[in-house]
Amino acid sequence: ATPTSVMVGTGRAAELGVLFRKGDALQALSGVATVAFDKTGTLTEGRPAVTEIATAPGIDRAQALRLAAAVEARSEHPIARAILEAAPDHPTAEDVQALPGFGLRGRVDGAAILVGAARLMDEERIDLGDLAQAGERLAATGATPVYVARDGRALALIGLADPVKPTAKPAIDALHAMGVRTALITGDTHATAQAVAAELGIDRVHAGVLPGGKVAALEDLRADGPLAFVGDGLNDAPALAAADIGIAIGTGTDVAIEAADVVLMAGDPRGVADALHISRRTLRNIR
Ligand code: ADP
Ligand code: MG
Repeated sequence: ATPTSVMVGTGRAAELGVLFRKGDALQALSGVATVAFDKTGTLTEGRPAVTEIATAPGIDRAQALRLAAAVEARSEHPIARAILEAAPDHPTAEDVQALPGFGLRGRVDGAAILVGAARLMDEERIDLGDLAQAGERLAATGATPVYVARDGRALALIGLADPVKPTAKPAIDALHAMGVRTALITGDTHATAQAVAAELGIDRVHAGVLPGGKVAALEDLRADGPLAFVGDGLNDAPALAAADIGIAIGTGTDVAIEAADVVLMAGDPRGVADALHISRRTLRNIR
């Protein structure tokens, strides 16, 4: 009756929009000790919006935003879309280079422009002045601070907020009720990640993770037992493949779906608890 109960469980899951892509995923999921979530697009809506702009003394806000938008026009990052929405009228940038996990560099009217995280400005030895404190205050609310610099001088801080999905807290609560630990993995700064984790009650946080570093963060979490990773695709494919169970969420990219064992059709993280519940029930029937 093993294959039959697996078929029944898989069918029941499909009715809830949870697709088990690989045969043994239903069994493997039942033994998971920790579920690690990507932040952006998985627990948050994945559509950040500019909510705040602070400038260095004497700098015009609109001008700083246009310089940032010029460079971001060449990026596919969700941050880029938000900044472009805030400054649709912008000059053209040249020599734009993406610095994954850090931000962007480019040239506008001959000036060297940097747009990105505090660690990018650190690396370029740019003094953020009072903008540093403003950025830390912003991060403590769960927003993402992005800095703009021109020719080695900090011009502005752009604050972007990406609201958590209304289903995120119930998803985390449901997993805890089932005795599973939760973790958050993100490229955002520690302060931003910590604020989101606290809001959702997530147990552990790996922040400041570079795009290539998610797999190493998973190895660390795996010390506690079998691990599931939930991601929406952008850069998540290696982590989805490396976890004991990879769960792709929502409108996930094709790459993510290919790498995943389980796909949650609706972008609803509560599907993880549904999947776990069905897998445990199925295994009880098998034994
Ligand atoms: P995540 O996958 O968690 O969203 P990323 O590695 O994409 O993290 O980005 C990490 C950080 O790098 C962002 O929070 C932001 O500070 C900075 N960053 C990355 N891309 C850009 C960009 N196009 N513009 C500005 N900042 C960026
Ligand atoms: Mg994501």
